[in-house]
Amino acid sequence: MSRTVPALVAPSVGAPFELSTVVRREVGEHDVEIAIAYVGVCHSDVHEVRGEWGQGRFPMVPGHEIAGVVSAVGGAVTRHAVGDRVGVGCIVDSCRTCRSCRAGEEQYCLRGYVETYDSTDYSGEPTYGGYSRSIVVDEHYVLRIPAGLALDEAAPLLCAGITVYSPLRRAGVGPGTRVCVVGMGGLGHLGVRIAAALGAEVTVLSRTLAKRDDGLRLGAHRYVATDEPGALDRLAGSFDLLLNTVSADLDVDGHLALLALDGELVFVGLPEHPQSFRPFSLVGVRRRLSGSNIGGIRETQEVLDFCAEHGLGAEVETIPAGRLTEAYDRVVRGDVRYRFVVDATTIGSPG
Ligand code: NAP
Ligand code: ZN
Ligand code: ZN
Repeated sequence: MSRTVPALVAPSVGAPFELSTVVRREVGEHDVEIAIAYVGVCHSDVHEVRGEWGQGRFPMVPGHEIAGVVSAVGGAVTRHAVGDRVGVGCIVDSCRTCRSCRAGEEQYCLRGYVETYDSTDYSGEPTYGGYSRSIVVDEHYVLRIPAGLALDEAAPLLCAGITVYSPLRRAGVGPGTRVCVVGMGGLGHLGVRIAAALGAEVTVLSRTLAKRDDGLRLGAHRYVATDEPGALDRLAGSFDLLLNTVSADLDVDGHLALLALDGELVFVGLPEHPQSFRPFSLVGVRRRLSGSNIGGIRETQEVLDFCAEHGLGAEVETIPAGRLTEAYDRVVRGDVRYRFVVDATTIGSPG
């Protein structure tokens, strides 16, 4: 039987959240039902609800950083059992047969993966995300949260964590790699932690020095403010990898100039507007400009295990459901250290 559960719904583009309900499908043979404990507030949720990436599907229930406990499983489920601590990220289905899916890179599924929300599944039904009390997901897309990780600190790893881990690993970051994390928000603070845990030499580029102490505590070796005159000039040619997590426009040429020979600027930030650069900025020192989308299921499990092993999670500010709309404004103002997570048990209960 399908179930109607409380959820926080954005009824139309840019509108405040309302407490409403969402219908979850019957737990199928291969499905896992999860009682959601915490759900992270990703800047992508803000872009989506505010229509910054084009027209979304409304009513919308965002949320793709989901952590909770298994409450039911279908008859054919083998990977998870009732009571297990689990998570769900941005992917709830994919074709499973294309080259990308076979390679464990479902985020590049050639058919198009089914996103956790603001998407339609392969039968044409809309998907609704984790700002809700529970969700039903095929077991293949459900991750194990290791015992060493608290559920609130683990939730943001399901999107923010994997999004920074994947390009760091792909670039072979390790001892001796000079990494610069641009923007220290939800993604950026995990980028600092994970790059430092991989042994890299980490610099943060932030707009101001306001978060300097946090940056150094999280593992950065150097923290530079872009609002200081000449700051970028002094760093010219210094880095092997720039990880751009900024949610707004970037001076692409100014940042490419910070790369050494064969250095790479990876975009994970997805601002509303097109960005431009001069090919001269690449050609002169054989630099690369690239992008990276979240990560596949296997690699998402890897980042959860990696973080548990290194004793690191997200730094979170837990909020009740009633403070979600205000939290969106605070994310846009950069007033969050460093990820809001909603206590999902307050959705539909006095919180
Ligand atoms: P966030 O917590 O809001 O952090 C973004 C950071 O960007 C801020 O902390 C700030 O860093 C910097 N920033 C914000 N506004 C700025 C402005 N006007 N000028 C310069 N810098 C500014 O956001 P998030 O959740 O980390 O997400 C970051 C971006 O990544 C978003 O665009 C999101 O949609 C995208 N994203 C992409 C993927 C993917 O798979 N590629 C996955 C998740 C998210 P400082 O205060 O340090 O300057
Ligand atoms: Zn996200
Ligand atoms: Zn596929």
